[in-house]
Amino acid sequence: MRSGDRQLVIQARRAVLPDGVRPAEVRISAGRIDNVGPITPPPGPRAEPDGERVITLADDEVLLPGLVDTHVHVNEPGRTDWEGFATATRAAAAGGITTIVDMPLNSIPPTTNAASLRIKREEAAGQVHVDAGFWGGAVPGSFASMPALHRDGVFGFKVFLRDSGVPEFPPVDQSGLGAVMEQAAALGSVVLVHAEDAAVIDSAPPPAGRGYASYQASRPAAAEVAAIAQVIEAAERAGARAHILHLSAADALPLIEAAKGRGVALTVETCPHYLALAAEDIPDGATQFKCAPPIRELANRERLWQALRDGIIDCVVSDHSPCPPAMKHLADGDFGAAWGGISSVQLSLPVVWTQARERGFSLDDIARWMAARPAELAGVAGKGRIAPGLDADLVAFAPDDGFEVDPLRLHHRHKVTPYAGQRLHGVVRRTWLRGNPVDGDRPSGRLLARQERTR
Ligand SMILES: [Zn+2]
Repeated sequence: MRSGDRQLVIQARRAVLPDGVRPAEVRISAGRIDNVGPITPPPGPRAEPDGERVITLADDEVLLPGLVDTHVHVNEPGRTDWEGFATATRAAAAGGITTIVDMPLNSIPPTTNAASLRIKREEAAGQVHVDAGFWGGAVPGSFASMPALHRDGVFGFKVFLRDSGVPEFPPVDQSGLGAVMEQAAALGSVVLVHAEDAAVIDSAPPPAGRGYASYQASRPAAAEVAAIAQVIEAAERAGARAHILHLSAADALPLIEAAKGRGVALTVETCPHYLALAAEDIPDGATQFKCAPPIRELANRERLWQALRDGIIDCVVSDHSPCPPAMKHLADGDFGAAWGGISSVQLSLPVVWTQARERGFSLDDIARWMAARPAELAGVAGKGRIAPGLDADLVAFAPDDGFEVDPLRLHHRHKVTPYAGQRLHGVVRRTWLRGNPVDGDRPSGRLLARQERTR
C-alpha cells in the first residue's frame, strides 16, 4: 500500500529532531511529515484507528533523518562498469542515505553543459532507489554553459585545480577559478573545489611502488593549504559561496577558520576515511586505501575531529569514488598506478558513528554533519531534518548493535573496500523514502533539481 492511501505513524523512544533527541511520534501522509509530537499513547501494541498504520521502533533503535550525501561519483553513463545509478543508490539506501548528489565527473559526458545534464537525467530515470540530484562542473571552455546548467537545476559547480584523473574534466587555472567564482556569485550558486595545488604536487616526488609513504609524500598537506588559500582569495574577491571538498590536511584549518571568521561564505566537508583511518596503519601495497587527497597521520585525523567539534568542518560525506578492481592494482600494490578513490556510500554512517561515539559525540552531531548541513550546502529542498513539511526520509538505526564488514554484502558494483573485516557500530535496520520502505526491488527515487530559495 502506498503512503498516500493511509497515514503512517512512526513511534520512536529516541528520535533525532532538530532540537535534540527525544521520544516522538512522526505522522506521515503523502510522503511528507505532517506532524512531530509526543507519543500518545505510550509505545507498544495498540489498536490502529482506521486509515492509520503505526510502526513502533524497537527499543534499541533510533529514528534518524535520512542522510544526504552530496559527494557521490555514480559514473553512469560512460563508465557504468565502474558504478551505476542502480547499484550506487541501492547501496546508499542500505547505508541510511536517502538523497545523493552526483558529482559531474567520471561519467562520460561530464556534467558540464545542459545537454550532458539531460543525458545523465535520462540515464538515471527509473533506476534510482533514493532521491538523486546533480552537481554541475566547470572546465576550461565550459563557463558559458553555467547559466543554462544552473537554470536546469544543478545544485552548484565543481572545479579542479589540478589533474582530475580523467581527461575530459581538466582543471581550471587561477583566472579560470576567478571567472567561475564570479559567475557563481552572479547566479547565486556555489563553487565546489577539489583543493590540491598543481604546482606543489608537481614539485613533490611522484608516487611509485608499494610504499604508502611514497604516495603520501607525493600529495603533501602543503598542496591542500596552498589551494585552499587560493580558493578563499577567489571567493572573497568575487563575493561567491565556496565549498572545500574532502578536506584531509588539518594544516589548512587555521586558514579556513580565519576566513569563516571574517565572513567569507565558505563551507568544508571531510570524509569517513579521513576520520577513521590513519597513514601509520596502512600496509604497503594496500591500494584499497588510495584516495586523493591522501589519508594522513593519526595526529592529523584527531585535528579533523577537533575541527568538527569546533564547527570549522561543516559536513561529512562519502566521496564514494569506485572503479573496477583491476584499476586498484591490488595484485601488484602499486600506489603510483592504482586509481585513487574509496567506495563507501553504504558504510559511511557506521564508519563515522563508530569513531564519533568513541569521542563522545552524539547522534545529533551525526544528523547535523551527514544530513542537515549537506542539505543546506546543496540547497536540497525538503531534506535533511525530521520536521513538519519535509519529506518523510527516515532511518531506523540501531547505534549499539554492530557488524563485521563483509564486502560481499555491499551493494556497490565492486566490493573492494578498506573496511573489509572491520567491526563497526551502528546497524541500519530500515530506510524510508518519502514514507515508503526502500526494499531494493522497486526503484522509487526521484530526480531532484535545484529550486529557487524562497527566503
Ligand atoms: Zn570526489
